[in-house]
Amino acid sequence: MTTPLFNRVAFIGIGLIGSSLARVIKRDGLAGAVVCATRTEKTAKTALDLGIVDAAGTDAAAAVAGADLVVLCAPVGATAAIAAAIGPHLKTGAIVTDVGSVKEPVIAAIASHLPEGVHLVPGHPIAGTEHSGPEAGFAELFRNHWCILTPEPGTDTDAVAKVTRLWQAAGMTVECMDAHHHDRVLAITSHLPHLIAFAIVGTATGMEDDTKREVIKFCAGGFRDFTRIAASDPVMWRDIFITNKDAVLDILGRFNDDLTQLQDAIKSGDGQTLEDWFQSAREIRRGVVELRQDFIDKKPNGD
Ligand code: NAP
Repeated sequence: MTTPLFNRVAFIGIGLIGSSLARVIKRDGLAGAVVCATRTEKTAKTALDLGIVDAAGTDAAAAVAGADLVVLCAPVGATAAIAAAIGPHLKTGAIVTDVGSVKEPVIAAIASHLPEGVHLVPGHPIAGTEHSGPEAGFAELFRNHWCILTPEPGTDTDAVAKVTRLWQAAGMTVECMDAHHHDRVLAITSHLPHLIAFAIVGTATGMEDDTKREVIKFCAGGFRDFTRIAASDPVMWRDIFITNKDAVLDILGRFNDDLTQLQDAIKSGDGQTLEDWFQSAREIRRGVVELRQDFIDKKPNGD
């Protein structure tokens, strides 16, 4: 048992990510009380029945009253409405953090609703699975993964230190980064791969029935991995692409150019270009393994 970091933690939204963090807080005794507000009564009841919160309801304003840490864990598209609802009820000195997969627009959606004396420490734990809801969570989800915090310059250092300690307790390595930079990096490492997975699975689904049956039957490693990624939550991903539009479109433009080059090489039988390309891709994979980022077996998504 550790000394509590917080008196009262309020989760707004408690699905895969929120419930996993709530489990860490309960396991390690990091808060005097943990409460949550979700959109539906059903999820609130599930969170309560799982024993990961002390109280649960659907009133976000009531949940944050008296909380010294508020963790926003809903899809990023819901952030502005949630921030508007809780803003007037936050206590002075409270820390507001989030787990959203996009940072710059999310910060903009929250910041204007926060009263003076409330500290905003945005975060993104880069760990996940394709499953959703509080039953899908587990305390070990975050272990050995990165968590990126994107506080604005001048943010209260104690608030940043406390949020850092929370994620470290979950087993994460914490790094601070500029929010704009975060969104560009994640556009290539996470958002584009998901878009490709959604596209490929969509292409297979659009094939005539007999071919489609065989695609599923003889589904080899590559396609099977894409189906797992494409099974990720549709609402969460809808919000990520709409919210991180600029960075995703920029990366998508570059990707289209690269794809066209590969297409041309195949058309013209330019084996050298293909081989060189695949060789450098292989080098990247080696770099990833050396940096111990090859969590593929135990980290399905890492969004
Ligand atoms: P999730 O399992 O689908 O849970 C979402 C939670 O948010 C539920 O409690 C849901 O309540 C609530 N919610 C949904 N829409 C809402 C709305 N319009 N207003 C208020 N609450 C709403 O989602 P998750 O996977 O935990 O993802 C949550 C956040 O973590 C997202 O912002 C995502 O970008 C980020 N993230 C996800 C992953 C991942 O792999 N899943 C990884 C890193 C970061 P009800 O159930 O009552 O509707």
